[in-house]
Amino acid sequence: MRNALGLMLASVGAAVVIAAVWFWTSSPRASRVVEIDTTGGPGFGFAHFKQLDFLTDKEIVLTFDDGPWPVNTPSVLKALADECTKAVFFPIGKHATYHPEILKQVAAAGHSVGAHTWSHANLNAKKMNEQQARDEIEKGFSAVKLALGAAPSPFFRFPQLQHGPAAVAYLGSRNVAIFSCDVDSFDFKAKDATQIINSVMTKIDKAGKGIILMHDFQRHTAEALPLLLRRLKAGGYKVVQMKAKAPLQTLADYDEALVKDMKLPVASARPVNNVVQTVSD
Ligand SMILES: [Zn+2]
Repeated sequence: MRNALGLMLASVGAAVVIAAVWFWTSSPRASRVVEIDTTGGPGFGFAHFKQLDFLTDKEIVLTFDDGPWPVNTPSVLKALADECTKAVFFPIGKHATYHPEILKQVAAAGHSVGAHTWSHANLNAKKMNEQQARDEIEKGFSAVKLALGAAPSPFFRFPQLQHGPAAVAYLGSRNVAIFSCDVDSFDFKAKDATQIINSVMTKIDKAGKGIILMHDFQRHTAEALPLLLRRLKAGGYKVVQMKAKAPLQTLADYDEALVKDMKLPVASARPVNNVVQTVSD
């Protein structure tokens, strides 16, 4: 009798444990959303900025650069949606003008969208003067706005994490937050998805928390993401979404210049049938 009761209690206990494990592994973990007041251009990511330590142990922020790009960006979006997870995207202005419909999908999925310059120029390069750096920054944001049909978040990441002092000061004057990172995946150098997963897990386990830099532009990253997100979850990591308190006011001059640029010059307005005639079928 005692044995039977013990057995019954043991099996009830086991069922509870199994149910708890199932619930923990199958349900999306509650994640924190933080709102960022970008006044004065705060910097994030311990690789360059150590002032604002807002993540607690095992909290991570997912960030993706260099998109939007066909196939890879939509794959990244699907992987994030499958885990009910939100990220911050830093698109390249030119890419935003090539694929505005993909960038719209990023924003529609609820992710934060900042900018990453117009043409991915190194703003800290010797040949780059202050005006050129400002043009790269502003044109990048205007391109994102044009693609989205809505203002981007005042979030910026320098190409190659090359923080030029004049550009940093300028972003501060524009009240744009600067994103460095804590963990650089170097996914663009990885030979396959497995290498990205192992590299990110090793680095984040060492750091314990932080902003992770990846590229939705890269095929291997898109391939790695479903398993990487599961590994992060199994490791007890929780994703924090960073949202801007207010959108960026892009500058009208750059918005207008970009719209002009986008309109291709038309040499002739003659209808196609007047120009091209089938003479032999
Ligand atoms: Zn980049």
